Amino acid sequence: MAKVTGFLDYQREHQPYRPVAERVQSWRQVMDHWPVETLGQQAARCMDCGIPFCHDGCPLGNLIPDWNDLVYHQRWREAIDRLHATNNFPEFTGTLCPAPCEGACVLGINDDPVTIKAVELTIIDHAFEHGWVLPEPPALDTGKCIAVVGSGPAGLAIAQQLRRAGHRVTVFERADRIGGLLRYGIPEFKMEKRVLNRRLQQMTAEGVEFRTSANVGVNIDVNKLRHEYDALVLAGGATQPRDLPIAGRELHGVHFAMDFLTPQNHVCEGDKVPEEALISATDKHVIIIGGGDTGADCLGTAHRHGAKSIHQLEILPHPPAARALTNPWPEWPQIYRISAAHAEGGERLYSVSSKRFVDDGNGRVRALELTEIEMKIEDGRTSFVEIKGSKHELPCDLALLALGFTGPEKPGLVDALGVTVTERGNVWRDESWMTSETGVFTAGDMQRGQSLIVWAIAEGRSAARGIDAFLMGRSDLPAPLD
Ligand SMILES: Cc1cc2nc3c(=O)[nH]c(=O)nc-3n(C[C@H](O)[C@H](O)[C@H](O)COP(=O)(O)OP(=O)(O)OC[C@H]3O[C@@H](n4cnc5c(N)ncnc54)[C@H](O)[C@@H]3O)c2cc1C
Ligand code: SF4
Repeated sequence: MAKVTGFLDYQREHQPYRPVAERVQSWRQVMDHWPVETLGQQAARCMDCGIPFCHDGCPLGNLIPDWNDLVYHQRWREAIDRLHATNNFPEFTGTLCPAPCEGACVLGINDDPVTIKAVELTIIDHAFEHGWVLPEPPALDTGKCIAVVGSGPAGLAIAQQLRRAGHRVTVFERADRIGGLLRYGIPEFKMEKRVLNRRLQQMTAEGVEFRTSANVGVNIDVNKLRHEYDALVLAGGATQPRDLPIAGRELHGVHFAMDFLTPQNHVCEGDKVPEEALISATDKHVIIIGGGDTGADCLGTAHRHGAKSIHQLEILPHPPAARALTNPWPEWPQIYRISAAHAEGGERLYSVSSKRFVDDGNGRVRALELTEIEMKIEDGRTSFVEIKGSKHELPCDLALLALGFTGPEKPGLVDALGVTVTERGNVWRDESWMTSETGVFTAGDMQRGQSLIVWAIAEGRSAARGIDAFLMGRSDLPAPLD
């Protein structure tokens, strides 16, 4: 245990962020480094619980009390080894994860939880700075070839694990660059792409082959691929956006969130994006429909474009400041949170329902008509009732639909293979991560539905073990999930 009285001696401190006035002027990452000197005190708050619920909260099963102790004792080299033992990409989770481990931390029962995420990020940053993150090419060659479709965190974790086990791995990505949503979904200000690129350099040096502009099922015959490789993995994500079929949906100025975020990420990469593909929020009244993380990413992007006004709408009621009785520890706390983008401005409206987009007479959106609603739960069933007389309009030149995703796209890859899909529209798998087709595996959002990076990595690691065992008859690869 780091320090017996650490949780009594030190209070939780907040992750440092760059000042709002400065950060909205650029696309640079908003999260700042945590000073190494005070991080030791934060790690000292860990109680090294007999039953560490943080392990249970983390899908990767990260060995959190171990590295808290190592950081407290300034044993950084050992800390990164412990961290990499369960997580291929701690820099992604350390920067972007909502940290379910912190929600489950025992200290959180009657105090603020340990700053697990900050400790994780600082360990990996420290390791990169000191040149400790080196390629780990395999010592053997099994001669087996695996094709991974999709280069998001799930595909990357699968590829790294299988390559290190001695297999020949090729990752096929339909986009022009590798990274999935880490590349073209998540904005630069949340995680700079250099963080992704340095990890891809390591994987390339390990011998993973990357093929971009390779749309399997469209410009690459999936059945040919199946024939040429010993195993095929579907890690194509859940990219089908949920629509809002209300009157006026067809008006100019109403877009899916990803149509706003993706071109901006291309611009940040230095690409020349055709004007018609670029959606600008500059000097516009922007309404973001959907109160989740994708909506928050649209909010931060719209701030940087210089929007005139921004509203983010949520159909659910305002969350409570602290856990409700129905949401006890160690469940994920359903509480009011202020993300970095929210701290930069904009107005959040809760308990509202969008009724129609209003035409300006020239086929462009001019306003959104909405009503206030009340959520009712009767016999365990949730319903929403409109509050009479609450109908009103908000000015709107740009509406962004951030209502989540309905699952993987079916045309092309999924349809061509004929793999079974679940009732929810995700790709079905068995306990070895194999789909209904022999030798075809799946992991990440493609089989789970839109989720989190930490789940994608955990599933990638687990699927890699299933694939390794399928090819070799047994596997020594670790698998955090069944
Ligand atoms: C805007 C946004 C912000 C998010 N922010 C966060 C966050 O802050 N923290 C967090 O934990 N999670 C976040 N998420 C969720 C997280 O990004 C995903 O859960 C995660 O990326 C899923 O990983 P994946 O590898 O399964 O799929 P993806 O990252 O979606 O990658 C799938 C890849 O497969 C490719 N592909 C699909 N079909 C084919 C094909 N036929 N041929 C070749 N390639 C194909 C796609 O182009 C894509 O690059 C966010 C999601 C969005 C949309
Ligand atoms: S639950 Fe919290 S206090 Fe307990 S071991 Fe995990 S991080 Fe430390």
